[in-house]
Amino acid sequence: AEHKVSNFLRQIIEKDLEQGTYASRRWAGSPGDAAHHAAGEPDPAKIRTRFPPEPNGYLHVGHAKSICINFGLAKEYGGVCHLRFDDTNPEKEDTEYVNSIIDAVKWLGFDWAQLGQAAGSAAPYQASDYFDFMYRAAEALIEAGHAYVDEQSAEDMRANRGDFGKPGVDSPFRSRTVAENLTRFREMKGGKLADGAAVLRAKIDMASPNINMRDPAIYRIRRATHHHTGDTWCIYPMYTFAHPIEDALEQITHSICTLEFEDQRPFYDWLMERLCECKLLAAPAPKQYEFARLNLTYVITSKRKLAQLVNESKVSGWDDPRMPTIVGLRRRGYTPESLRLFADRIGVTKSDSWIDYSTLEGCLREDLENKAHRGMAVLDPVKLVLTNWAEAFGSDGYTEDCSQPALPHSAIAEGQTPPADRTFLIGKEVWIEREDFEEVPPKGYKRLFPGNVVRLKGGYVIECTGCARDAAGNVTEVHAKVIPGTKSGTPGADSIKAKAAITWVSVADGVPAEVRLYDRLFAEAHPDAGGKDFLQSLNPDSLKVVTAYMEPSLAGAQPDQKFQFERFGYFVADRLDHVAGTKPVFNRVTGLKDSWGK
Ligand code: ATP
Ligand code: MG
Ligand code: MG
Repeated sequence: AEHKVSNFLRQIIEKDLEQGTYASRRWAGSPGDAAHHAAGEPDPAKIRTRFPPEPNGYLHVGHAKSICINFGLAKEYGGVCHLRFDDTNPEKEDTEYVNSIIDAVKWLGFDWAQLGQAAGSAAPYQASDYFDFMYRAAEALIEAGHAYVDEQSAEDMRANRGDFGKPGVDSPFRSRTVAENLTRFREMKGGKLADGAAVLRAKIDMASPNINMRDPAIYRIRRATHHHTGDTWCIYPMYTFAHPIEDALEQITHSICTLEFEDQRPFYDWLMERLCECKLLAAPAPKQYEFARLNLTYVITSKRKLAQLVNESKVSGWDDPRMPTIVGLRRRGYTPESLRLFADRIGVTKSDSWIDYSTLEGCLREDLENKAHRGMAVLDPVKLVLTNWAEAFGSDGYTEDCSQPALPHSAIAEGQTPPADRTFLIGKEVWIEREDFEEVPPKGYKRLFPGNVVRLKGGYVIECTGCARDAAGNVTEVHAKVIPGTKSGTPGADSIKAKAAITWVSVADGVPAEVRLYDRLFAEAHPDAGGKDFLQSLNPDSLKVVTAYMEPSLAGAQPDQKFQFERFGYFVADRLDHVAGTKPVFNRVTGLKDSWGK
């Protein structure tokens, strides 16, 4: 494990633990009960955090950062983390997204808890389970004179909110009596008012310099079928009202979110104080803390824009290996370990910045370096014929076994048993890379050209003699002579000095495979900067599909298994399309070296 660098969140948590800020918290009945943490046993979890996605899309690399922060901090400090679906916005939500979020969190290696239920056995929370409590909280605010039903038109409400440096104007409905407000709110709930005809607003301060404190709306009328509560409700709480209540009911201690919520914090605290006064909640209330969201070069993390890429078929789906979604990164070959390492490495800060895409790739290379088995694949094949094969070995059909380590010596930790060697055949004909032959070699070229001596990696040393071409002048075959007695791993291996070692796969046992060569989806580092149309920055060459030949150990991979193709970089057997042995399909994850920003 890497050394954990301190950050402002760790400092806050450590101070709270030291001062026992949350030590008085007690277990009590289920969430939704009044004064829910007034009685019962002390909460054994020292801190409670939560990851609260709205199930309106697939999670992306930015959410991965938030997941790692929330689950990671809880784990580190003897606490637990809740997974909560913030499903208060019925129109955009769907169970497809709920399921994909559950998969993503589990895949990243985390497990959620509930009050009274440890990680591993708990279900996720759903904000919609608290609709009854939220409704009661709204009535309690009305009864205490802290909320009113406003029936101004939407335009009037907007105009009367004022602006920066310009105080708002009180709504004519602001002075309604408690009784009148209660009646009207119950009519909202009972379906007597049309969508948009009224909202319930908190009564705070229309002159506040923070516009979010100018009587924010807390309930609206919306006749929409909710994916969980169906048609039970025609009024729904606003996010700013719902979220603090969700946190409080789950006894969250540290409610960690991104910086855009900073201006909402005063309302968060205001609401917690009012509901404690009303005895609907008991102190200590949760506190909100904000960190800078992840911005990654060459990547878009707006759910809306990612949806546009999918809907306009710019990519094959949410799990296209070029997408920054967790399903996309996973299909591309990213590992949970590499994403957790990435989150650790970029850390948490209070100010926005850009992270270079190469940082993410670097974490993946670091994770795969000692794990991914090596193998040879020829991505742009041309046939090499060893013309003296029968003369050297008795017949053209003769083949011989070759073997190579699956992992280099440097990748084996002390005391670890190395994996079994890979074995593959060599015969009269092998596939080599087209770029490994030049009839007239450029200066410094060390690979195949007439008269040059190279090694077929893990096989024999050969001497190039020439090539055959078709009518158009394209090389159709490369010719060479095998030099018997020079096979790798035999006593004669070093008897002849080769100028280079090239990768190859024999025609005898090489398996044809589809290889998808992915590159960055956007050609510009900041594809959606300055109001630019991000579709204009799409990289037209972000996918090239080739038919390669690969050694049997690669073709027989299990779906999702990662490899280092020698000289080319990291590749993964596609999770969905690859069939071991009969229909190999591989995705390029990343090259061996950083090529970003070059
Ligand atoms: P929407 O725009 O639909 O609200 P969102 O990106 O805010 O989408 P949520 O489902 O609300 O998505 O996000 C869940 C959590 O992930 C939130 O706490 C949010 O702050 C965090 N999050 C979202 N995007 C990023 C990001 N780029 N970096 C870090 N955290 C993020
Ligand atoms: Mg959101
Ligand atoms: Mg957002």
